[in-house]
Amino acid sequence: MERIISPPSPSRCCFTHMKRIGEVQAEGDGQRFYYKRCTRCGFTVREFVFNIELDRLRAVELAEWNRAAGWIDRLRREVQGEKAA
Ligand SMILES: [Zn+2]
Repeated sequence: MERIISPPSPSRCCFTHMKRIGEVQAEGDGQRFYYKRCTRCGFTVREFVFNIELDRLRAVELAEWNRAAGWIDRLRREVQGEKAA
């Protein structure tokens, strides 16, 4: 298995290529965080999440999911419309 070695400091690519990896984790003291990694150079940071932000994160994810579901629905209807024509 290939192991990506995280560079000690971020590069310019990191501003636009940071991607959240994995689930939100909790430290011993209850502080929550998740990892973000640059898909270009592999630079990894821990992003700490406060409870209030976590709720917001969930709301955003839910909204995105709803939007995606609506989009898939529309696409499906368009395909069906084409078949009928
Ligand atoms: Zn980078």
